[in-house]
Amino acid sequence: MIVLGIETSCDETAAAVVTDAREIRADVVLSQLDDHTPYGGVVPEIAARAHLQHLDGLIRRAMAEAGIGFGDLDAVAATGGPGLIGGVIVGVMTAKAIAAARGLPFVAVNHLEGHALTARLTDDVAFPYLLLLVSGGHCQLLAVEGVGRYRRFGTTIDDAVGEAFDKTAKLLGLGYPGGPLVEKAAARAINPGRFELPRPMLGRPGCDFSFSGLKTAVRRHAEELGGSLSEADRDDLAAAFQSTVAEVLADRCARAIRRFKEDHPQGGALVVSGGVAANKAIRARLSTLADKHRMPFVAPPLRLCTDNAAMIAWAGIERFRLGQSDPLNFAPRPRWPLDPDAAPAIGKAG
Ligand code: ATP
Ligand code: MG
Ligand code: FE
Repeated sequence: MIVLGIETSCDETAAAVVTDAREIRADVVLSQLDDHTPYGGVVPEIAARAHLQHLDGLIRRAMAEAGIGFGDLDAVAATGGPGLIGGVIVGVMTAKAIAAARGLPFVAVNHLEGHALTARLTDDVAFPYLLLLVSGGHCQLLAVEGVGRYRRFGTTIDDAVGEAFDKTAKLLGLGYPGGPLVEKAAARAINPGRFELPRPMLGRPGCDFSFSGLKTAVRRHAEELGGSLSEADRDDLAAAFQSTVAEVLADRCARAIRRFKEDHPQGGALVVSGGVAANKAIRARLSTLADKHRMPFVAPPLRLCTDNAAMIAWAGIERFRLGQSDPLNFAPRPRWPLDPDAAPAIGKAG
């Protein structure tokens, strides 16, 4: 089985060709970073136009790299939401057009399910597993019990963790996108223990997260330093922020592990995914936690943590091989929670 995947939900335009033998035959990603940098964040209208401009060329490139024609495909999968709706429409319409023209099945993939199932593309991960999904718009702990079967243990009550990285980077004057820049600054820190930050939710019952207070604490330290930060100040603050986030994530995960093991005494892996899972300090902290609880730890390779179309093609394969596909009148969804009885999402789309 060979599937074309399309991702256009945020500021990456991406196309990929993946097989059910877990072979990534092509995986092309075009970042719109330069288009959005002047505005310090993603501008939805600019994103939608850029997807429209580049998607056809990227699909042609992916198909050429895979060495196949549209006639060789078994299905076309595209992100159907959640995300910036203009971009999602571009990807969904393109996938539908290919499907209609070639008589192929169309699979509308939940972007979050793409992140959630990536570990099964890159590693031998069986259901059930405990997933920490940490991305630009989400921060959730979920038991992944099967394709389309998610049970949420906790979520953020304010900012998503990637959003917290991005906002912290902005207020430290590091630029956009924040995650990788905070990680680089933290690695340069000479005195990483210099600043003490509050650890939101640490030790509290439940598995929810909160990050807005942390960001405010960073701002307060920055203001106390007189506004104009030296490079050393900036690096030390970035290090404090990153290690605090890692510690809070590990604390919440430890609680979720207990709940997961009650429900699934046979065990399962601890999986981390989403853009923030590209952070090496966070990966290391979670790996230690998994060791302590004798759970296998799985984190996808860095480039498959941030947005890509290989994960969309793969989630399409997972659904399609269970006999699932979508009608050509599928309507793109700006919001689309993974678990059926989720509380309304807070923060960005989703
Ligand atoms: P969602 O998946 O929730 O819809 P998104 O698709 O915009 O949101 P992703 O592409 O999965 O998010 O992740 C992007 C986020 O990951 C950004 O907030 C970015 O700052 C963060 N990020 C990327 N690399 C790193 C890193 N090395 N360390 C920390 N954060 C990172
Ligand atoms: Mg992005
Ligand atoms: Fe994402």
